[in-house]
Amino acid sequence: MTSLADIRSTFLDFYKRQGHAVVSSSPLVPRNDPTLMFTNSGMVQFKNLFTGVETRDYSRATTAQKCVRAGGKHNDLDNVGYTARHHTFFEMMGNFSFGDYFKEEAIRYSWELLTREFGLNPDKLLVTVFHTDDEAADLWKKIAGLPDERIIRIATSDNFWMMGPTGPCGPCSEVFYDHGPEIWGGPPGSPEEDGDRFIEIWNIVFMQYEQFEDGTRRDLDQQSIDTGMGLERIGALLQGKHDNYDTDLMRSLIEASAHATSSDPDGDGKVHHRVVADHLRSTSFLIADGVMPSNEGRGYVLRRIMRRAMRHAHQLGAQDPLMHRLVPALVQEMGAAYPELGQARALIEETLRAEETRFRQTLDRGLRLLDDELSGLPEGAALPGQAAFKLYDTYGFPLDLTQDALREKGRTVDTEGFDAAMAEQKAKARAAWAGSGEVADATHWYDLADQHGATEFLGYDTEEAEGQI
Ligand code: ATP
Ligand code: MG
Ligand code: MG
Ligand code: MG
Repeated sequence: MTSLADIRSTFLDFYKRQGHAVVSSSPLVPRNDPTLMFTNSGMVQFKNLFTGVETRDYSRATTAQKCVRAGGKHNDLDNVGYTARHHTFFEMMGNFSFGDYFKEEAIRYSWELLTREFGLNPDKLLVTVFHTDDEAADLWKKIAGLPDERIIRIATSDNFWMMGPTGPCGPCSEVFYDHGPEIWGGPPGSPEEDGDRFIEIWNIVFMQYEQFEDGTRRDLDQQSIDTGMGLERIGALLQGKHDNYDTDLMRSLIEASAHATSSDPDGDGKVHHRVVADHLRSTSFLIADGVMPSNEGRGYVLRRIMRRAMRHAHQLGAQDPLMHRLVPALVQEMGAAYPELGQARALIEETLRAEETRFRQTLDRGLRLLDDELSGLPEGAALPGQAAFKLYDTYGFPLDLTQDALREKGRTVDTEGFDAAMAEQKAKARAAWAGSGEVADATHWYDLADQHGATEFLGYDTEEAEGQI
């Protein structure tokens, strides 16, 4: 079986042979972009090369980039455990041209890699192009010999990439693999496209234009290429699996979770094991890159992922903190490719252990409260916002954790009620302060408390945490 480690090096070696510099992954906390929560694609570390602000001694590069999509524009937290193809942490492999080659070579390289190096069956592949991009459609026909019906024209933003409101932008072309009619889902552009039958494996962006503030565009002097292929997705294909979580690496983590909880990896707890394995990766890599759990910004996203994982561990019957015990399995699987994991191992274990020990003090009671609340409600009714707020405020349950717990039971939260309860508590705190006779600017104090967390559990709700960065 080709391991994910082998696939990673096959990809990098292939592009190295085509003259690309092999560049290391950048950290998950972007150095050059305070507006971005976490590095969420391969191009992040190269932004300044695409805009021409910076030049380096190479004009082509290839990477396997650590990515986290658990906040901000790309948030796959709610997909984990539910789809075959999403993780919160994954590796995006890519090749980049900075004003060097363009569409033709990009398509040629990717087709050669997929069908010759990786040996995928060309009949199972289909591609999308932006609806006006005849050039790309013609190239796929010429190079790959794809028939028209497997070159799908898409008119939405899915196939038009923009770096931001202004700056480099252009059409993109994506490669999909058809896993066959036994699996639910439809081709890209169809109403069932979110299913897992047709799985997107590669996004190839053609940076062709520059967009200005007034919405006009001009051709870039330096046309560039930016691509991203999920290692776990191509890994599943090459290991003859449909599901990313059945690849060698994810499977080892799932088995470690099953072993540590003396449970069946494929039994009733299957989804919990998948979430635990996924969140183990994102939390450990974030800690290794210097993020610590806190009540604001990046640290609060980390805390939310950790606590979600801890509830799933609890559902597996873990009597003691679980997550930190799985770190050795992760280091074993990924430590060679990412030495920072081994270096930070003690810090990761201690941070996970301390957070889980603390959260377990309220987790049990919170879950009991949740069950009591639900049993008093009519069938299918949403959990009242007050109850979700109490779980948040008193038991340290981020709103998304409560929603995640309810989703398993087919229930939801009254989020408007939750927001109202939050607003009411803030108003009360302000009034209490104002009534205390202090001359300090109460609003100012409250704002500070808001930013830094007045109490252990008074954190941001999802939107505030994300809006802030
Ligand atoms: P999807 O439509 O399946 O959510 P996407 O369009 O959001 O994927 P892109 O932003 O185009 O993905 O990222 C490029 C590639 O990175 C994808 O083609 C896929 O192979 C991989 N990828 C994206 N998100 C994830 C994820 N959450 N987990 C694993 N791989 C991912
Ligand atoms: Mg996505
Ligand atoms: Mg997509
Ligand atoms: Mg895509």
